[in-house]
Amino acid sequence: MKTPVVDKDKCIGCGTCTVLVGKTFKLRADGKAEVIVPAGDEEKTIQEAIDSCPVQAITWKES
Ligand code: SF4
Repeated sequence: MKTPVVDKDKCIGCGTCTVLVGKTFKLRADGKAEVIVPAGDEEKTIQEAIDSCPVQAITWKES
């Protein structure tokens, strides 16, 4: 199964992924996005968030 991973060093906390796929990503108190439910949204919707991240901080990990 593929799950999304956020590189916290790259994330600038713009919030785009949390708006597009709010079941999967959440902004933490430190302003960085984190994955709360790896399969919270459909894979193609998560892919949209990956494509929309301005700093390419989200990648897929095979698990
Ligand atoms: S879209 Fe990218 S930069 Fe913006 S909050 Fe999500 S992971 Fe961070």
